[in-house]
Amino acid sequence: MQRIAVFTSGGDAPGMNAHIRAVERTAQKRGLEVVGIVGGYTGMMAGHFEVLDRIRTANILDRGGTVLKTSRCPEFHHATGRAKAAEQLAKHGIDGVVACGGDGTFHGALALHQEHGIRIVGTPGTIDNDLAGTDYTIGYDTAINTAAQAIDKIRDTADSHGRLFFVEVMGRHAGFIAMDVGVACGAEYIAVPETMTDIEVLYQRIVSQGIDKRTVVIVGEGDESGGAMQLARRIEDAYGISSKVSILGHMQRGGAPTVRDRVLAARLGAAAVDALLEGLSGVMIGEQNNSITYVPLEQTWATRKAVPRYLLELATLLV
Ligand code: ADP
Repeated sequence: MQRIAVFTSGGDAPGMNAHIRAVERTAQKRGLEVVGIVGGYTGMMAGHFEVLDRIRTANILDRGGTVLKTSRCPEFHHATGRAKAAEQLAKHGIDGVVACGGDGTFHGALALHQEHGIRIVGTPGTIDNDLAGTDYTIGYDTAINTAAQAIDKIRDTADSHGRLFFVEVMGRHAGFIAMDVGVACGAEYIAVPETMTDIEVLYQRIVSQGIDKRTVVIVGEGDESGGAMQLARRIEDAYGISSKVSILGHMQRGGAPTVRDRVLAARLGAAAVDALLEGLSGVMIGEQNNSITYVPLEQTWATRKAVPRYLLELATLLV
């Protein structure tokens, strides 16, 4: 193996730059050349590759986003798109690839591996923490800290005015962000996709606080209620209680990565290069109980990663 590539794909996540840097540094130490693929699968198909070296990866470790950019690439869902990508990888003499992204990126990576024999490993880069086979994903820790800071601020104004607030956080179909920040910020109710939101229980929580007192309800964007706006409307329609809604949105994706995210990104980057050198392919490099794990890519999405039970219990106990 002489030349490897790294790219970031799908939703960006803080820590991706620290990851790119770690892949580049480790590869150089192991005597490999490294190229960055610019713009995810779109760049791979178009042959948009750039050589990475110490200078290119200097001073990026603390920056949010991804210097290699990212994309959603509909063409990659089709075999013709993947064939174009495989052709470009061969043309550029790439012997191994590190794909940093979420489950969509991993679906694409597995297809490349199966259809074209590309040696490729995935690394979990998503703020949603929704990939099985790793305790945490790169970007999750930063996202929950960003969301918690925002919710603390909302609590101040909710408290001053004695208002009911519905705050929507990201996480797609998983409630990890909502549960962690809900507990961390002392939310009165947390609505997540993993549990049914009971409007009557929610109403009881609100009135038990006193309807002229501060109440903060955290809503995961994938909750079956449809989100914070819909939940607020249902409470207003059913019980005549008005509220304010705040949707945190994409701010949760940005910003400087936390120390935990930088260390995770660095460790997984180094382990990914070594995994390629050992001949692994079609696996995600994860971290479980402080050890590096190699998980078949299909297992990362086939099994639904459960929100820890203790969080669900704490959320009710500490109200
Ligand atoms: P994430 O990787 O963060 O989950 P997406 O779901 O948008 O983000 O996936 C990123 C890209 O991976 C998509 O734009 C597409 O190019 C590719 N991809 C997603 N799903 C598949 C699939 N089933 N087969 C092939 N490629 C896929």
